[in-house]
Amino acid sequence: MKSRTFYPGLTKKPEEKDRKILRRIEENAGDEFAFLRDLIKVPSLPGTRAEGQAQRVVRNKLQQIAGVAIDEWEPDLRAINRYRYHPIRERTDGWNYDGRPVVVGMMDGSSERSLILNAHIDVVSPEPLSAWTTSPWDAGTSGGKMFGRGANDTKGGLASIIYAVKSLVECGLRPKGRVIIESVPEEEFGGGGTIATLLKGYTASAALVAEPSGVGNLCLGSGGSRFFKIRLLGRSEAPQAYRRGVDAIEMGYRIYAALVKFNLGRERRLRGKHPSFERKGEGVMFGDGRPTNLVVGRFSAGDFPAKVPGWATMEGRIGFPVGESGDEIRKDLADAVLEAAAELPWLSAHPPTVDWFNAQREPYELSPSEPFIQTVRSCIHRTLGRPPTTFSTPSSSDAVFFANRVGKFGGVPVAVYGPGGGNAHGPDEFVYLSEIIQTTGAIALTLKDWCGFN
Ligand SMILES: [Zn+2]
Repeated sequence: MKSRTFYPGLTKKPEEKDRKILRRIEENAGDEFAFLRDLIKVPSLPGTRAEGQAQRVVRNKLQQIAGVAIDEWEPDLRAINRYRYHPIRERTDGWNYDGRPVVVGMMDGSSERSLILNAHIDVVSPEPLSAWTTSPWDAGTSGGKMFGRGANDTKGGLASIIYAVKSLVECGLRPKGRVIIESVPEEEFGGGGTIATLLKGYTASAALVAEPSGVGNLCLGSGGSRFFKIRLLGRSEAPQAYRRGVDAIEMGYRIYAALVKFNLGRERRLRGKHPSFERKGEGVMFGDGRPTNLVVGRFSAGDFPAKVPGWATMEGRIGFPVGESGDEIRKDLADAVLEAAAELPWLSAHPPTVDWFNAQREPYELSPSEPFIQTVRSCIHRTLGRPPTTFSTPSSSDAVFFANRVGKFGGVPVAVYGPGGGNAHGPDEFVYLSEIIQTTGAIALTLKDWCGFN
């Protein structure tokens, strides 16, 4: 394969070392695709032992890299539950990490410039299977794409970070600063794997999380979110006595309308304040420009067709950017619900309750002038021949655990950067093969520039 196919940046007088590294990555392309195929073929759904099977594929590959020491362990559930910002804190019933280890590969170095490369091994359910053209575990290729659950999110990124290190080492280079490669379980379901690496003491002066930003995009932040549940009571009656009853669906609809208004108000108030969220681009991580989106994902009411519904519940999610706190959001939303309830005699006498449950994700946002971000930016530019689009995503990832300081953990500048594709979490998920090789190149140059390889 001609280098020009993958690296337009190489046509513009590259440094000799850059050229050598990128050429090596191109030579390794076939191997890297085969490795990705092996990863996709293992259905590593969170909470299953297949996560562990896929981790063995990763460990075997890391063991082929000269100078990489392996650390593998099963996280301690109780320790993870104590971490203040674990997004899911209600997980006690039989949940465990047996056979679902974290795998870390490390190359030691003495310089202060060290780097964590992180990607997750778990994937979300491929259901409904009937929506797929082929099996989600086939890892077939066509039209420059590899298909399969996890191809894009985030096994493609995992292949990129591992082959970035492998290719540098094969060029005879050794890091001056420590390099830590982390393959973690459970990103899609709370982040316990990455939290376990923090608790075990793995840290660095910068981190790169290989979520699918797309090769020409660099993600600097993500939104926070809270899950809420609103419960309200009506009064059940038989259909013939409808007017004596209180219809909980109607009451719920009034509250729902208040939530829609509340959402629009927040959207207007915050417009223009977080421009990186408003940047437009191609790829699964780009939102519709708002870090605030509120969605009611489930509305349930009543229990029998011939009965005025006596109760209703709404479960939803609200997003928020840096600058707002989860506590403020909770208070503002509860106030909006109670204000709407106060306008209705029945609900002012029987006010709805608002509870918060499950995922509690914190936001973060890095400055584009952060030195590590500048480094990644320059390396993407040298690889592609053009600078990346920087943006923030409303969705969350393990990057937040590196970025935010919690006690002695975190506070590390983090770039989110990985190969693009499409249909993440949907049927016929795919990753672009060219982007695998391009992001591997940009990540390898980032390693060389940041940690210093010689
Ligand atoms: Zn992901």
